[in-house]
Amino acid sequence: MPQDNSALSIGRSASEVDVVVVGAGFAGMYLLHRLRKLGLTARVFEAGSGVGGTWYWNRYPGARCDVESMQYSYAFSEELQQEWHWPELFSAQPDILAYANHVADRFDLKRDITFNTRVTSAHWNAGAATWTVGTDTGETVTARHVVMATGCLSSSRMPDIEGRESFKGRTFHTGQWPHEKVDFSGRTVAVIGTGSSAIQSIPVIAEEAGRVIVFQRTPNFSIPSRNGKMTPEYEQSWKQDYARRRAEAKTMRSGVLSPLNDKSALADDAAARRENYEARWKLGGTYFMQAYNDLALNKASNDTAVAFVHEKIREIVKDPKVAEKLLPTNHPIGTKRICVDTNYYETYNRENVSLIDIHETPILRITPEGVQTSGETYVVDDIVFATGFDAMTGTLLKIDIIGRDGTTLRDKWHGGPRTYLGLMTEGIPNMFMITGPGSPSVLSNMMVSIEQHVDWIVQCVDWMRANGKTAIEADLAAENAWVEHVNEVAFRTLYPQANSWYMGANVPGKPQVFMPYIGGVGAYRVKCDEVAAAGYAGFHLSGAKATAAAAE
Ligand code: FAD
Ligand code: NAP
Repeated sequence: MPQDNSALSIGRSASEVDVVVVGAGFAGMYLLHRLRKLGLTARVFEAGSGVGGTWYWNRYPGARCDVESMQYSYAFSEELQQEWHWPELFSAQPDILAYANHVADRFDLKRDITFNTRVTSAHWNAGAATWTVGTDTGETVTARHVVMATGCLSSSRMPDIEGRESFKGRTFHTGQWPHEKVDFSGRTVAVIGTGSSAIQSIPVIAEEAGRVIVFQRTPNFSIPSRNGKMTPEYEQSWKQDYARRRAEAKTMRSGVLSPLNDKSALADDAAARRENYEARWKLGGTYFMQAYNDLALNKASNDTAVAFVHEKIREIVKDPKVAEKLLPTNHPIGTKRICVDTNYYETYNRENVSLIDIHETPILRITPEGVQTSGETYVVDDIVFATGFDAMTGTLLKIDIIGRDGTTLRDKWHGGPRTYLGLMTEGIPNMFMITGPGSPSVLSNMMVSIEQHVDWIVQCVDWMRANGKTAIEADLAAENAWVEHVNEVAFRTLYPQANSWYMGANVPGKPQVFMPYIGGVGAYRVKCDEVAAAGYAGFHLSGAKATAAAAE
């Protein structure tokens, strides 16, 4: 067991450290903890004023996880997982943020985190094999390694709608929500977007606001979460069996222990299928997509699930015209991130909620008074932009990263992200990404993927140290082969058929590449472990000592 060398950590002022970590969400926090245990010095820079990442920024009404909390939580500490109590099955943002702060305090993380500081540049010093990291406060730090724990969904996007700045009322983005409570009482609120964030927030805003007008470009599939209070029995069933369940979850495709029905949707007759979908609808949440094993692979199978959800929407929403507008028809179910809700479709039965289909009547501009479509001008007090993120690459590309021989990340990724295992990119040595493009990341329980990446990176850094290696860089051929594999596996599924943010389709001009790795968390972990066991196959290592022992 490595001893806890946390006393070696050196606080917030050092200008030379072993590792700079960018971001203090769940990834950066766990990484800091692990680095300290190895006796490495680290500084973490965080743009926000607190820890928690996603759960620090996304404070919109109704924000909560869609992977149940017993699984959407750290597994690395038995004491932590035994002592923490989640009040609900799917925890709300304030509870997840409280958990992040609890972890930071319990493991004394904050003393090495510099808050309110954005990393703006990272330049490689070839001779010294170090990085010089620059920040927006003017501070620079030198480090052997940089780890980008910057998150996949951390650059929120305001849409390019004419006149947006002219609006006289209040504007909000779900991904940058104010810290104080926003009061919508008696107000007319426009919500633009109908992705997961909108689907969670609309029902809650509608309960408080005078009127809510939803501007929908593309309807999404949403499954009721069936959230509820955590019962002592359910909590205990997990806590008594945590080690086994966590271990099993790591081998699953999504990193979530879930009830997969391992047969094709076409293997059941219509009545049996219906019964199965009904049971899944009652069970709730993302488990719906595991009703059959080929919903993501076979269009005919997928169509059966689409038909069932359409039927449910028609059943719930009383006004048939509104129900028709809410039916997603332009993508197979699950190929955009499936949404999970509490009373989303039911909310359209409220008198104070209306739905504007901006396919029929596009938004022309935002005026000082509200939203003008080709059909009408809607005078509103507030506009909520639930318009998503420049996902997976946006945050990384904001940083001026210059690697070996002047290679910039922006040039390197001009046609879309290129990585080896989603961990590193050729030309940029000693810089790791956590849940980078090319890894399962957003297609998984992110806590599982974060812990796997952190463990792998920490083991690699430790191995380098033990073997006198000062630099590691992905091999171009290995990277090209991985990119091809990521692409090939994606195109075996129905996912590329949707204009999703997985494909970069939500950002005008962004290269259309399927970014996450769809091969599954279990298979991916095996691959990463094999690479490490083979002395980091597919990476170039350089440093003082000529030979390296095999990785542990
Ligand atoms: P983040 O939490 O995004 O943290 C990254 C941090 O890096 C941020 O705090 C950011 O401020 C900081 N940062 C970025 N760039 C810089 C810079 N240049 N300098 C300094 N700091 C920087 N995943 C699931 O598995 N299950 C869920 O139920 C789930 N629900 C979600 C709900 C919402 C609303 C959103 C937006 C995402 C959800 N996700 C979910 C994905 C979620 O992002 C991950 O689960 C996880 O929280 C990511 O942690 P992270 O530390 O990798 O990144
Ligand atoms: P999103 O899924 O990208 O949804 C953005 C919405 O805004 C879409 O409906 C989009 O329409 C619309 N939009 C974007 N630009 C627009 C424009 N110019 N005019 C009109 N509409 C526009 O973003 P999100 O809802 O924030 O979710 C992002 C991801 O975060 C999710 O997929 C999920 O991974 C995660 N998340 C998870 C949860 C959870 O349940 N745990 C909750 C929130 C977020 P189009 O579809 O037509 O582009």
